[in-house]
Amino acid sequence: MSETINAFEMAQEQFDHVAELLNLDPQIAEVLRWPAREFSFRIPVRMDDGTLRVFQGFRVQHSDARGPNKGGIRFHPSETFDTVRALATWMTWKCAVADIPLGGGKGGIIVDPATLSSAEKERLTRGWVKNMWRNIGPRQDVPAPDVGTNPQMMGWMMDEYSTLVGEYTPGVFTGKPLGGGGSLGRTEATGYGVIYTVREAMKHLGIDPTTSIAAMQGFGNVTQYAAIGFVEMLGGKVACVSCWDREDRTAYTYSHPQGCDPRFLQSITDQYGMINKEKADAAGYIREDGDAWISKEADVLMPGALEGQVNEESVKKISSRVKIVAEGANGPTTPEADDFFKEKGIFNIPDFLCNAGGVTVSYFEGVQNDMNFYWPEEEVLQKLDQKMTTAFNAVLAMSEKENVYMRDAAYMVAIGSVVKAMELRGWV
Ligand code: NAD
Repeated sequence: MSETINAFEMAQEQFDHVAELLNLDPQIAEVLRWPAREFSFRIPVRMDDGTLRVFQGFRVQHSDARGPNKGGIRFHPSETFDTVRALATWMTWKCAVADIPLGGGKGGIIVDPATLSSAEKERLTRGWVKNMWRNIGPRQDVPAPDVGTNPQMMGWMMDEYSTLVGEYTPGVFTGKPLGGGGSLGRTEATGYGVIYTVREAMKHLGIDPTTSIAAMQGFGNVTQYAAIGFVEMLGGKVACVSCWDREDRTAYTYSHPQGCDPRFLQSITDQYGMINKEKADAAGYIREDGDAWISKEADVLMPGALEGQVNEESVKKISSRVKIVAEGANGPTTPEADDFFKEKGIFNIPDFLCNAGGVTVSYFEGVQNDMNFYWPEEEVLQKLDQKMTTAFNAVLAMSEKENVYMRDAAYMVAIGSVVKAMELRGWV
């Protein structure tokens, strides 16, 4: 998380810009500039050594105009209330642009989960639910995993909630483990969704995917499946991926003269998205510093780590070959970098469109939980492709009709849909 960039100010700046383009009633804009509800709470946890440690927890519910709030819970040492606010706001736009009947929310805990034992993580996740259970639920607010959280933690949280309300309620959390109420295809959903939108962008721009190269940042859940999809579905080459190395307290970029083999790299990556450097070195991977990914010769740049990574400084280093920026991460591009892309005519697939695959399959998971009937993986991925392709083309059509940048077009589609729901409900 960048210390210099306030993600919430960035989210508001993006919103204000489009509110102006849309000539949005300033009173409605004032409602949507801010989250509807915010929760900040302390979570005491008994550690394995008998001591008591207190963690800071958050939940922000931005808008439930289109349906229950929806969004992940992030465990990160530099989590802030403003980051959670920004992410909750982007979730509202994401669900609207993907046209799924949910609103926006986000949660977090200030913690480095890699420093906790499994039992401590379980007590911490259950502690989060003890604070929030009255204000979440399948018809209220449905959290999911994000950076630093995983399906097992959602399983514990769902169990804690079910215990507190006195009935089995799988639909209160999504991203649960398979066999514990989870959906097939959820693990791959965000990364594959990124690739469905990249495929559509390439069709639009007339780029041959089989001769294309992608440079990716991060190697967690999103980037792993985006890299696999880029190679296996599109037939392209992945020049590099990167990750944060906890042991060395620095980020590394990994590339290979023949292109990365994402399945191999995945096999040597831990649950926090850290690549085993000794094994990568032994397999002939070149290890450079964490910033190197952005200057690689590539047609597609895919920031898939954290927000604010493509900024005024770093954007100047991109290769002249770059044609598409596919935002796997949330908020990876600052407004200054956006100006650069606009000026150079680089095609942007904005975050809340590009990475909407995760929340779309989360929605499918909730639907399957409600029906108590589960779909095969093929059906989930086919429905996901359909949703992502439709969403991409709706934003592209808006961008062409209004002659605006793709991010502005995505905001126009999303804000239009949220405002319409507010009007239909008689809120404005
Ligand atoms: P993750 O925790 O699985 O992976 C994060 C990756 O980023 C790891 O490989 C980590 O080492 C790397 N990283 C962290 N700091 C870095 C740095 N300074 N330089 C290079 N790499 C760094 O997280 P994820 O689930 O893959 O999420 C990544 C991004 O995508 C986040 O912005 C998240 O909000 C967003 N997102 C995730 C999903 C999802 O379904 N997982 C859905 C939508 C959006």
